Amino acid sequence: MNPIIKEKNFYSIEGCTFWPYIFINKELQDKRKELVINHERIHFKQQEELLVLFFYFIYGLNWFINFLWCWNSDKAYRRIVFEKEAYKYENDPDYIKNRKPYAWLSN
Ligand SMILES: [Zn+2]
Repeated sequence: MNPIIKEKNFYSIEGCTFWPYIFINKELQDKRKELVINHERIHFKQQEELLVLFFYFIYGLNWFINFLWCWNSDKAYRRIVFEKEAYKYENDPDYIKNRKPYAWLSN
């Protein structure tokens, strides 16, 4: 399934995914917007393969465990398995076509 992409006015975030939607900050420049959409498409796939709810559960738990290790919320966020995959491949527009299911397990 393809995501429904909506542009919104956000205060600080660039984008977020709540299956079946991807919300993108209206203020982003075109190049940046492409990259953020690509990043969010990876989260969209992750959410699909985890039936959405398990994605949020693992995401939150993973952040919390990371935070206990480093006491830094940004670092804890960057080390979430889903974010590692999304940041690693957000620059590759073809990644989503060739991505293997559950690829976040090996990033
Ligand atoms: Zn992300």
